[in-house]
Amino acid sequence: MGIKFVLASNNEKKKAEMKRILAVLSPDAELLSLSDIGFEGDIVEDGASFAENARIKASVPATLGYIGIADDSGLCVDALGGAPGIYSARYSGGGDRDNNEKLLSELSGVPDGERGAHYACAIAAVFPEKYGIPPVEAYGECRGRILREYRGEGGFGYDPLFYRDEEGCTFGELSPEAKDRVSHRGAALREFAEKMAPIVEALEKTDGEEKR
Ligand code: IMP
Repeated sequence: MGIKFVLASNNEKKKAEMKRILAVLSPDAELLSLSDIGFEGDIVEDGASFAENARIKASVPATLGYIGIADDSGLCVDALGGAPGIYSARYSGGGDRDNNEKLLSELSGVPDGERGAHYACAIAAVFPEKYGIPPVEAYGECRGRILREYRGEGGFGYDPLFYRDEEGCTFGELSPEAKDRVSHRGAALREFAEKMAPIVEALEKTDGEEKR
């Protein structure tokens, strides 16, 4: 049995993504969910930044004796002073379509040259106190601009409105692999994997020694 990690998220896509990363770092690693460790409560995400929220979520498994991993992400629009930011998922109070409609309406009077925005993603791993390992944090950003109409069916959230001059299309028009290469989440995950590698290696060594 390998090292156990607990992802503080109910999003199956995020779980699959994190599983792939951990499998590269440690083929025997196990990725559990909060429900697997008997945590059924709600986590209050009341941090003031993406990084703080990721840390708050990852701390929940850590206080229960597990290595916690979590991410937090969102869209920050220049003309809206960085909104919706950490409130991206609940911007309109409805789903993705309502969020996008609200964004279009808030930006209706904003000229084309002033519709810049970036996606941000923070990832954190928090360890139980007995490990004596400080939290691992990674962060990624991706710049683009907000269109006036929807383009593409791929991705999720604000992707059909998020246009990138570099690719000449929206995130809604990119394949998942192409999006990963340039996205905030892709960048954060790569940094996270790099920072976690030596820690996982050390944990595996200790684990092996304890079993001997
Ligand atoms: P989280 O699950 O708390 O990180 O919420 C992230 C929210 O930010 C999502 O519900 C989307 O509204 C938005 N968001 C974050 N990353 C993306 C992305 O890659 N594409 C589109 N929307 C995103």
